[in-house]
Formats: sequence, structure tokens, C-alpha cells
Amino acid sequence: MESETIQNGTPVKLTAKDFASDQDVRWCPGCGDYSILAQVQRVMPSFGIPKEKTVFVAGIGCSSRFPYYMNTYGFHGIHGRAAVIASGLKMARTDLDVWVATGDGDLLSIGGNHFIHILRRNINTVIMLFNNRIYGLTKGQYSPTSEHGKITKSSPLGTVDNPFNPLTLALGAGGSFVARTMDRDPKHMQDIVAKAHNHKGTSFIEIFQNCNIYNDGAFLPYTEKDTKPDNTVLLEHGKPLIFGSKKDKGIKLVGFRPVVVSLEDGKHTVDDLIVHDQTSKELAMILAQFSEMEDFPVPLGVLYEVERPCFEDEMEEQISNSIKKNGAGDLEKLLFSGTTWEVK
Ligand code: SF4
Repeated sequence: MESETIQNGTPVKLTAKDFASDQDVRWCPGCGDYSILAQVQRVMPSFGIPKEKTVFVAGIGCSSRFPYYMNTYGFHGIHGRAAVIASGLKMARTDLDVWVATGDGDLLSIGGNHFIHILRRNINTVIMLFNNRIYGLTKGQYSPTSEHGKITKSSPLGTVDNPFNPLTLALGAGGSFVARTMDRDPKHMQDIVAKAHNHKGTSFIEIFQNCNIYNDGAFLPYTEKDTKPDNTVLLEHGKPLIFGSKKDKGIKLVGFRPVVVSLEDGKHTVDDLIVHDQTSKELAMILAQFSEMEDFPVPLGVLYEVERPCFEDEMEEQISNSIKKNGAGDLEKLLFSGTTWEVK
């Protein structure tokens, strides 16, 4: 399917360029945000949804400039409130395609409350978390995903905060689609963004995004050709967890405990390894914690996907059933019913 719009009464097929606005992009040269913007613009035409039916909602931060650069409707909200603005919009206009562009400070600090509630409600939106592990727009303070001990402008002796793991947080809050990708792998990002969009419910994508000004190289072990194979594992549903530059390592489970094993020592074969099942929340929780475990590769791909009802669908059904049963209702009558009085 391809998106189209009506021009002079004729349907016109859209391309990535049609989703790019005429605004100058004002991110620092070299910022990972450029790649995210480019990949989203590239996949948009494949969804078959007109620009006029698409809305990007953002909070505050470098990532939150995203709606300016999309030639769709957009809402640059206030700090931390993107998830709740998107929730309200989707409930009021279920016909719209609603996206959230946000950062680790915006979504997980001041916006943490709204984040967990959109996930549990499963409102049909895509949330893209640009995780650069720093506050970029305000010039380099530590964020809720900065590593413990990180020296920043607001933690000159090293932060004593423990970071959030966005994936375990999303899974724990009831996320129905939880995935991770990175700015330096355009094809992978396009694939994950498309899968997230095709999922019905709140789709959460953590995107490793380099802030080359205030936290340069935060994800280097996962992005560079020579280190990526030993430090990342690509998740594919139905496939075993194998990684390493020579595809010589795998991950097996001993009870509930994951263990990295060699496939070259003659003690283990592919049959011993975990086979990825993205419908298993238990497995997703285990995978999500790899990034906190020494010598474990960081998982990239869809960790978890499950179908469950969306809040706005159940809400609409409830309203329509109530109207069928009780009639359309009368707001004025309601306001003046019960214990009301007139002050003269
Ligand atoms: Fe990108 Fe960092 Fe510059 Fe913000 S401060 S635009 S995140 S490089």
C-alpha cells in the first residue's frame, strides 16, 4: 500500500519527500536525530495513510522538534506531556494516525507518569524514544537513562542516580509492543518503525541515538563494525539467539538465568540456545535486562508483541452501547439535574 493525497481532484502517490516539511532542520550537524527523521519519512508512504490524517506529537527537547520537520499535522507540546496529548487526541479522533517523538528526559523524567499510563491503556499510537542518555537541549545534564557514575554538567562528581531501563519499564507497565533499534542502522530502524506502526496498540521503540555534542559515543560498542557483532544480538522471532563476529556465541537458559555459551568449545550446539519468541513476556523481560548484565550482548529488534484491546475502542463501544440503550442524552438536562440551584 502507498499513501496518496488528492491534488486538483486527482489521487497522487506520496514519496518520502512529501513527508518532509519546508522547515530548516536545526539539529547539530552529525546528530543521530537526522537518521531517525530520514527513516520515518522513508517508511511513511508505505502505510497508505494520507498526510492529513497523520499527527506527530512531541514534548520538549531536541527530539521534540520532530513535528516541525514532518509535512503532516503536528503538536509541539509542553515538557513531558507528549504521551498524554497523544492519548487525548487519539481518544477524540480515533481516525487519526498518532505518533509520539520524545527523548529520555521528556518521556522518562517529567513525563514518566504519562508514559506508564498510555502503555497500560494500550492507546493505538507509536512512541519513538530518542534515547541519547543526556539532556541535549539544555546542554548536557544527566538524564534518567544516564549511567550510574556518569560525569555531566549537573553531576561533576558522577551521578549517584540509577538509570531506568526503558524496555523493562515499558514491559512492566503493560506495553503491548516493545522494541529497540539504533540511529546507525537505517534498514533495521525502517523495519522496526514499520512493525511498530502495523501493531494495534501502544508501540514503544527505544532508539539508541547519538548526541555527538554532549554524549558522543554513548553507543559506540553497539554501532561500530568491529565491536557491534560481539556486543549486540539481533532478535528474530523463531530464531536462536546467536551473536559474535564469527557467530560463535549463543545464549541459553539455565532455569530462569540466561548464560552466554561458546558454540566452538564442543560443549554446546544451536539446539541448546534460546529461540526468540516475541509473544513471551517472560522471555522479553529476561532479554530486556541483558543491557545491565556484564558480558551480555544488547538485544535489538522486537522483544515483545501481543494483541490486546485498545482503550479508545472499548471507550467508543461503551458510548455507542449506552446511546443505544439510553438515547443520545442531553448535556443541558444533565447539568441541571440532581442537586442544582440558581443563585440570584
Ligand atoms: Fe542532537 Fe545533541 Fe545537538 Fe541535541 S544537542 S541536536 S541531541 S547533537
